[in-house]
Amino acid sequence: MDIHDTGESDTGVAESSRPLDFVRAIVKEDLRINKNAGRVATRFPPEPNGYLHIGHAKAICLDFGIAAEFGGTCNLRYDDTNPAKEDVEYVDSIQEDVRWLGFDWGDRLYYASDYFDRLYECAVQLVQMGKAYVDSLSAEEIRDHRGTLTEPGRESPFRDRPAAENLDLFERMRAGEFEDGTHVLRAKIDMASPNLNMRDPTLYRIRRATHHRTGDRWCIYPMYDFAHSLSDSFEGITHSICTLEFEDHRPLYDWFQETLRLKSRSQQIEFARLSLNYTVMSKRKLLQLVQEGRVKGWDDPRMPTICGLRRRGYTPESIRNFCERIGVAKRDNVVDVALLEHSLREDLNLRAPRVMGVLRPVKLVIDNYPEDRVEELEAVNNPEDPSAGTRRVPFSKELLIEREDFSENPPKKFFRLAPGRTVRLRYAYLVTCVGITKDDKGEIAEIHCQYDPASLTGDSAGSPKAKATLHWVSARHAVPAEVRLYDRLFSIENPANEAEGKDFKSYLNPNSLEIVRSCRVEPGLAAANPGERYQFERLGYFCVDPDSRPGVPVFNRTVTLRDAWAKIVQRGAQ
Ligand code: ATP
Ligand code: MG
Repeated sequence: MDIHDTGESDTGVAESSRPLDFVRAIVKEDLRINKNAGRVATRFPPEPNGYLHIGHAKAICLDFGIAAEFGGTCNLRYDDTNPAKEDVEYVDSIQEDVRWLGFDWGDRLYYASDYFDRLYECAVQLVQMGKAYVDSLSAEEIRDHRGTLTEPGRESPFRDRPAAENLDLFERMRAGEFEDGTHVLRAKIDMASPNLNMRDPTLYRIRRATHHRTGDRWCIYPMYDFAHSLSDSFEGITHSICTLEFEDHRPLYDWFQETLRLKSRSQQIEFARLSLNYTVMSKRKLLQLVQEGRVKGWDDPRMPTICGLRRRGYTPESIRNFCERIGVAKRDNVVDVALLEHSLREDLNLRAPRVMGVLRPVKLVIDNYPEDRVEELEAVNNPEDPSAGTRRVPFSKELLIEREDFSENPPKKFFRLAPGRTVRLRYAYLVTCVGITKDDKGEIAEIHCQYDPASLTGDSAGSPKAKATLHWVSARHAVPAEVRLYDRLFSIENPANEAEGKDFKSYLNPNSLEIVRSCRVEPGLAAANPGERYQFERLGYFCVDPDSRPGVPVFNRTVTLRDAWAKIVQRGAQ
């Protein structure tokens, strides 16, 4: 994978210096020549059969983004034509996620199921025109007749049924006279077409399934291609932007609108879907992970779903910035998840308040600090944002620091605390290690230090220079917290590539979640609210999880502080 290939912009230069991607270039040109009477209307057409993921975010940013930039509108339309797999749970989540991403469809919320009557009428019209017929071959026989990429298909023996007979059968299909699978309605196009989609595609099939909106009113349901092309026209969509796999469907998309002489014609434009490494992006696969309990749900913070990313602590801004960065192109590529994390750090760095929390604490006792004294020391909330102000953090004789910030026999290049060494405690004093005590298991129980009272505001003549600054909490004041550390959900870059017959789930990373219950955080976090984001100094960005209980906040580690993307770019530049 070429890590610098984060997308390409094919054509055009905007008034601003940012080059236009090829979709925007098309829209801009259409506006220039006054195509569609200067109107720009797009739509985002999810099928409510799962939760939205980061790939959908790319489509959403494009559909809604283009509408906003060119003074147009963007509809939210559910492609709810397959009731067996759809659910209101998904319908609701999709709206929540699109809104959270920062987009608004106003009063333009539509459902393909709202058009079932019109779609049926259009199908009848095709039958009357001799452009559609009822086929009574079985599904298997139809597949058999379809041919291959190298061989033409064969015509069904039912292809030349007279229009009246087709009409009668189609009506009776609708009326529920036939079993599921006994008949379908097919377009009559060309069984010898080199494009398989044009070989008499199915328009309607019989399926007795209760629809989440139309209930049991219908027992025949339209196929996606038919419903989608017509819905676009019904809504006056001008630019129907979709992913590359629909490129071969475009002749059919056009055929429906042309053949039915629909007044409003839309142009289908295809772009490359987003793929990210170390994850899967198919709703079918994500559903499997949920159903088999491999993750805790659609919103598990390891999932690439919008709700998973949200729970993990992602901001809508970071996702939108990421989508802008990867750009829009015609060529499939895999984007490095490090770029997504880079966009996130960039955003959180500016907005996340800094706090101190210790994941795996060990006690640090300041021998020369008065027993009962508590100082409220001033700490900066966000060095990137002076308006975020400061807060007070209690400091006392007994502190907790990170166990790994102390080494009894420090290896080379270990600059943190060790016997005889001096370090700075963040926002506090210089301390020098004067001894340790151990428990019966030989583990360090206490680190004893002397502090330099003159060192609070800076270097002090009385102490050596510190080579490290450590975060800490006051043992007596700190609040217990649970921290959930996440790693990649899969241990290989492309788990969806099921080569060698291996199931993608065999690549799940067994260490993708580590729960740390020993954590202690500064007292101000006791009342932290779910969704709040913080930087734990030196540890990373964390987000309060809805599982938090009063007095025991639960934090998800959103992302570590180390920026792999910056390193990748740096390496590439050398
Ligand atoms: P499936 O996962 O079953 O293939 P889907 O991802 O295509 O389904 P839809 O609900 O049909 O799910 O998608 C809605 C819109 O989002 C479509 O226009 C689709 O092209 C777009 N989309 C889906 N996945 C991606 C992706 N990875 N990158 C960009 N756009 C996507
Ligand atoms: Mg789809």
